[in-house]
Amino acid sequence: MGCIAYWIHKHASINPNRIAVIGEKAKFTYHEFSRKIDMMAAILSNRLSLQKGDRVAILSQNREEYIISYFAIAQLGLIAVPLNIRLSAQELAFQIKDSGSKVILYEKELEEQFFELSALIRFENAYDFGSDIDTSLSNVGDPSTKFMEHKKYDPFIICYTSGTTGRPKGAVLTQENMFWNALNNHLALDITSYDKTLVLLPLFHIGGIGLFAFPTLLAGGTIIIPRKFVAENTISCIEDHQATIVMGVPAIHDSIRKCSLFETANFESVRWFYSGGAPCPTELIDAFLERGLPFGQGFGMTEASPTVFMLSKEDYKRKAGTIGKPVMFCDVAIVDENGIPVKKGEIGELIIKGPNVMKEYWGLPKETNETIRDGWLFSGDLAIEDEDGFFMIAGRKKEMIISGGENIYPLEVEQVINELECINEVAVIGREDKKWGEVPIAFVSTNQSISEAEIINYSRMKLANYKAPKQVIFMDALPKNATGKIDKNQLLKEVQGVK
Ligand code: ATP
Repeated sequence: MGCIAYWIHKHASINPNRIAVIGEKAKFTYHEFSRKIDMMAAILSNRLSLQKGDRVAILSQNREEYIISYFAIAQLGLIAVPLNIRLSAQELAFQIKDSGSKVILYEKELEEQFFELSALIRFENAYDFGSDIDTSLSNVGDPSTKFMEHKKYDPFIICYTSGTTGRPKGAVLTQENMFWNALNNHLALDITSYDKTLVLLPLFHIGGIGLFAFPTLLAGGTIIIPRKFVAENTISCIEDHQATIVMGVPAIHDSIRKCSLFETANFESVRWFYSGGAPCPTELIDAFLERGLPFGQGFGMTEASPTVFMLSKEDYKRKAGTIGKPVMFCDVAIVDENGIPVKKGEIGELIIKGPNVMKEYWGLPKETNETIRDGWLFSGDLAIEDEDGFFMIAGRKKEMIISGGENIYPLEVEQVINELECINEVAVIGREDKKWGEVPIAFVSTNQSISEAEIINYSRMKLANYKAPKQVIFMDALPKNATGKIDKNQLLKEVQGVK
């Protein structure tokens, strides 16, 4: 029962005909899903000779075989190393080497990337998912369900963080972590077997797995996994499949609301548009609320499998803009530099404790001990709790700007600049300054012309003078890292050339 693949086999025995997965090529019931997991497990153990504890890299876009592989890997006690397909061959080679993955599962569409990678690193075995799920999973006999005995702390996934805080670190998540995260989400959102969850994040990211693919499958519901995100297709997909939960990062929701179909689309089936993974601009939340759609935020991070906070359906209007309250089996605190809890309303570092918190960073005991202290995960994020117990993220600790001894939280400045309609994207960072130590400067991309002075004056009107940007740099589009977040390291490099 401790194995997460048990969920699927159990649903297959009690509700075999319920639809579990809707992919672009195939749709299958829990009975079929459970058979495919057994077949994939047979491929992994018989054909690829994998044994408990072996690491298996996966290079693929979202597809049916991806989700099947996760459960087959769990069943055999293997360790999945999902690869971000947007990374360069060198970056991927680092993760493969670091995790010690000897086998790779990949899809034909990414063959070129696979060959490029193979030139840098040797695999003992590789398996192409194939273009047809039934052909690729056939010819492995009639495997029966076998669970490899596994212990509570056995790793299940090594998820590499995007490296915005240093070199990519492999967060080691266990099946137990995945179970508690699934349960936490299930309780926070009342996920049931009636839910049809549209997964718009890649399955190589913890957001794609934990929000809410695994939670929906624990509940016996249906997951819909398009190959990649295209706003028009997403809207048709919601209508065609009557999706009930739509999850994504702010950039995804922004594309949905800017799509010409948004105003007239039939979203009656959707009971929850969920945004997480990055700060959500208030005007984006308002666009959904004004259209009468239920839209809420949550907060998560890879190291917490990922969910930590969720805004509930009772509070999404009243407390729009907050990330809600901590989920059921997860404790949080906000502490000062000395680890002492701050008062409500004061900013401090968010720390997290619970059965959803990762075991360690793969092969990095020093970094693990710096991040997890006395069982508390130090998130590196700054947060505030309001008097009603709702939390808000104030930004990242390392991004805080200290100007003339005053703290400036870039997120606060970004939110103000974002209020201007012509702004597409904004990022505020600190630039060295002889007089003040650091001063804030803003990078923006716009959809209409606006001058630097107008942006600075608007910020001064809304914020203390020292918080307003001292300079605005216009770009066609802000640079993004591989998970689609604005790459502030890149912007810092730009700034070094700025006087
Ligand atoms: P790295 O840990 O290497 O810097 P990363 O930032 O991509 O990489 P993830 O685990 O993907 O790591 O993202 C987690 C981070 O995303 C959180 O620590 C927080 O900074 C941010 N985040 C997540 N949800 C929200 C939210 N609702 N509002 C603001 N920030 C959020």
